[in-house]
Amino acid sequence: MWEESDSGMRKIRLDEIIDEKQDVFITVNNKIWEYAETGFEEFNSAELLCAILEDEGFSVKKGIAGISTAFVASFGRGKPVIGILGEYDALSGMSQKGGIARKEPLREGGNGHGCGHNTLGAGALAAAVAVKHFMEANNIAGTVRYYGCPGEEGGSGKTFMAREGVFDNLDIALTWHPLIHNIIVSDSTLANYQVAFKFHGKSAHAGVEPHLGRSALDAVELMNVGVNYLREHIVPEARMHYAVTNTGGNSPNVVQAKAEVLYLIRGPKVTQVQEIYERVCKVANGAALMTETECEIVFHKACSNYISNNTLEKLLYANFQEVGVPKLDEKDKKFAREIKSTLSDADINNALMQAKGALGERGQETVNKLKEKEVADIILPHVHSSRVLPFSTDVGDVSWIVPTAQFGVACNVLGTPVHSWQNVAQGVTGIAHKGMLIAGKIIARTVVDVLINPEIVIKAKDELREKLNGATYICPIPPEVKPSQSTLR
Ligand SMILES: [Zn+2]
Repeated sequence: MWEESDSGMRKIRLDEIIDEKQDVFITVNNKIWEYAETGFEEFNSAELLCAILEDEGFSVKKGIAGISTAFVASFGRGKPVIGILGEYDALSGMSQKGGIARKEPLREGGNGHGCGHNTLGAGALAAAVAVKHFMEANNIAGTVRYYGCPGEEGGSGKTFMAREGVFDNLDIALTWHPLIHNIIVSDSTLANYQVAFKFHGKSAHAGVEPHLGRSALDAVELMNVGVNYLREHIVPEARMHYAVTNTGGNSPNVVQAKAEVLYLIRGPKVTQVQEIYERVCKVANGAALMTETECEIVFHKACSNYISNNTLEKLLYANFQEVGVPKLDEKDKKFAREIKSTLSDADINNALMQAKGALGERGQETVNKLKEKEVADIILPHVHSSRVLPFSTDVGDVSWIVPTAQFGVACNVLGTPVHSWQNVAQGVTGIAHKGMLIAGKIIARTVVDVLINPEIVIKAKDELREKLNGATYICPIPPEVKPSQSTLR
């Protein structure tokens, strides 16, 4: 059956399958981009992915974990069970025409794929389909699953899915993200909680009867002052951001009876976020006490810090080197130059600093070369890191349950900010398409590595156990909290 010696040769077949079916994956990439559906409302996007996976012979379960746009598509049987995580949610207010290098919305006020999740979902699909055909052709045992994970942007869809146990019997999970660099992502990310504090007071004429009113807006302001004092006494890596989502109206002559503030609390460990959250609740209740208002605390969502897995990252890195970086044609390069001319020096320098961070002091020459390029054409060295990046992802929750690894492929011009119009504009061009196909090949090869070398699973699981150091996954979202579109707005 399988000869280890010719595994490299055989894995080339995975690349060929993806190339043969590239029109399907490119169409999926572009259609999801057009649908541009935001978290938990990705009905067309999920339907499209499910239809293709069913067509390809996967058995598809829709509406898993009680979320209508979450699904799992499975092929094969028995162990190991390998999950490929796909996303497909867009961002509100980010509408932008594709393939043009100037800011121009496609639909005024509409949604847009400013984080490339259309490309993410399509690349993950390419991997799952290639692995399925390869398993069939080579009679390889095991199970491959595509997880349709909705609502990543502000919704923590995977955390809700994790709470319902959908990742529990996986052996390995892999995912990727379209980025400006070709890089194995081995940094941790911050855990977070998103919670609304709603204050209820009593309205009154602010001039005639101020003594009869109790101001909910005062409570919001006092709460924010209290939290700003709290900042000095929390771990320095923690973050507390807030937005006043209801000021209680536009009339200064009315004592505001209702006001609301939405908090996002982040920290390197989910346990630290829990502690800070409890202290923020005390501040909120203190503000309510001072103003004689009532405080209602509404938990929206949360996610855990990411635990990287060096065992799997090494495999991804080796496969990335074999597959190579995306090769752009003249049309792509021309468009890339046009996009680059719209980016600020600060954007480009920021991208170069990221590369320098990975390359180290001796990498200056490479950074200088990169500066002249429109799209990154090097694979940054894999450094298994203990850094914590100051943002959050719901892949974190999966990484607590099962050994997980992720990487980025350059699908955007160097310096393109995430959540920018330039990001949306590139999402349906050759730059994104080529990166997406490369990502599919890297994941597919890594899945096959794991399928044919079961000792990798043991090693990856040992590493996770060691990093958890006795801790077990506890979903940070309370059982009664339901995923909701309203939490994203
Ligand atoms: Zn994203």
